[in-house]
Amino acid sequence: MNFELEDKTAIVAAASHGIGKACAMRLAKEGANVVICARGQEALVKTTDEISAATGRQVEWVQADLTKPEEIDVLIDATTVAFGDIDILVTNCGGPKRGEFMTMEDSDWKKAYDMVFMSTVRLIRAAIPHMRARKNGRIVNLTSIAVKQPIDGLILSNALRAGVIGLAKTLAKELAPFGITVNNVAPGYTFTNRIYDLAMEEAKARNISHEDVMAEYHRSIPLERMGRPEEIANLVAFLASSGAGYITGATIPIDGGYHLGLM
Ligand code: NAD
Repeated sequence: MNFELEDKTAIVAAASHGIGKACAMRLAKEGANVVICARGQEALVKTTDEISAATGRQVEWVQADLTKPEEIDVLIDATTVAFGDIDILVTNCGGPKRGEFMTMEDSDWKKAYDMVFMSTVRLIRAAIPHMRARKNGRIVNLTSIAVKQPIDGLILSNALRAGVIGLAKTLAKELAPFGITVNNVAPGYTFTNRIYDLAMEEAKARNISHEDVMAEYHRSIPLERMGRPEEIANLVAFLASSGAGYITGATIPIDGGYHLGLM
């Protein structure tokens, strides 16, 4: 299937590692020009070089902390300076702190709100004018299967990611007249640094081994393995493509069957 992404411009947020990086790589492989952001310059440069070398596409990086509104503006401005337009926005962020409800202070909630919810609001708000003017755009929010089935020990993610779904569903209708689609991808356990670290923290908290925690994760997944970042990226690239033009307001799980509900 030709995704028709040749020469489109895509921003992928939080993309120096993990799922974001895989999305940036996949979009570039489909011919898009890509701008990635994260906080650390060293990893950004390494990832940018890797994606350019693998795809031959122009890839730009912007050092930006997604919890800081002014740094999101810098990301959007740098993209329009480099490529003129924004066709695709993949919102993504670092994962919020692990822990149960009674362990969280107000400051934890505020940090997670800025990271998970407000980064999405601010990225979309800054990108919309560039898409609306051309009556075309694709917004894909990377969320979590936690929006369908809460994950033990991740109260901040479970509570705040649901807000992104409400935001996206509302925007899907508001932005439809401008040819902009808004969809959510909801990954289950996907093997990245984040999942490795979460398993390590859980192992310490429960005084069991990292291997045992990982084995428990695997047992909770009907396909008996974690997803690969590239598998999440396949879905993101499809939602960014011209072929997905009639899909909007959807939340699509990609979780090896982890979520057991009907919808
Ligand atoms: P990861 O740790 O591999 O990558 C996270 C990326 O975000 C890195 O590039 C990091 O530099 C960047 N980042 C972190 N904080 C940032 C900030 N303040 N500003 C800008 N960039 C920042 O993680 P991942 O597994 O790819 O997860 C990405 C997102 O997907 C997270 O929000 C995570 O909670 C969510 N998620 C992950 C899984 C999973 O199993 N891995 C499942 C569902 C949802």
